[in-house]
Formats: sequence, C-alpha cells, structure tokens
Amino acid sequence: MALRTIRTEGDPVLTKPCRTIDKMTARLRTLAEDMLDTMYDANGVGLAAPQVGILKRLVVIDVGEGPLILINPEIVESDGEQTGDEGCLSVPGMAGQVTRPNHVIVKAQDLDLNPIQVEGEELLARALCHEIDHLSGKLYTSLVEGELHAVTYEEEEEADE
Ligand code: ZN
Repeated sequence: MALRTIRTEGDPVLTKPCRTIDKMTARLRTLAEDMLDTMYDANGVGLAAPQVGILKRLVVIDVGEGPLILINPEIVESDGEQTGDEGCLSVPGMAGQVTRPNHVIVKAQDLDLNPIQVEGEELLARALCHEIDHLSGKLYTSLVEGELHAVTYEEEEEADE
C-alpha cells in the first residue's frame, strides 16, 4: 500500500485541465492503486488524479459499492436534481451545499482501456460529477450555494471526495 500526498486548495495543480490517457502503463496502474489506497486511508469516497499532483484523466470512486477506476471519464447523460452537502479531500474539514444531477451516465475506459459505462444515482451521481469536475480544474467550492462550513468527522466520512 502506497499513500500519495493529497494536494489542498491553493495548489495550482488543482486548477489545471488534465490530459487524456491514450496508453496504459505500469506507472498509471500503480497510480490507480495508490489513489484507491490514499482515498480509503483518508475516508473519502472519491479521488481524482490532480488531487495527488498528476494531470491525467483518471478518477477512483467508492461510495460503498466497491472500487471504481475510471480512465477518461465523461458524462454523457444527466437528469434530475439533488441538493446536499458536499466535501472534498482537497478542502479538508469543510463542506457546502451543492446542487447536482440526481442521475448520470458516464462513459469511460477501464485499466485495459476497454470502453465501459457507469450509471449512478444520488451519492454515486454526485461523486461522478465531483471527480470529473476535478479533471477540468474545477473545485466544488465554486458551486457552493451559501457558505462553506466546518464538518464533524462522521459527516466527513460520508461526503469527502
Ligand atoms: Zn474533490
């Protein structure tokens, strides 16, 4: 298990667009494994590569249904609406209210670069939107309605992405 350092808000790497992955390498496979380890260690439900300083289109998510590794993910359909507290491992200890689609369909590739499709509702839809935003250098803090507020540890476990 290898943990990577999670970059926090203010680090310029979090505001830059990520490059498409067109070739799988041993380094990228290790990165995906390390990102899952790092996410679980921090009690998060999602992590995007720029959060560990890598500007590549790769995210990992686990909302309690098992790990998802998504290469070059892209939202192809979204509908409905949900408003709720959202957090981010790059903005530790804070949360804020964000409105997201309640249902999304994402096209991506797996670790062998085979095409896959993921459908998510509620927390998974929120996590997919949040992580994919990271790949274009966007933090949820730019979407917060009202003020960011401090969260308790329990809430953080539920919501940090
Ligand atoms: Zn985040």
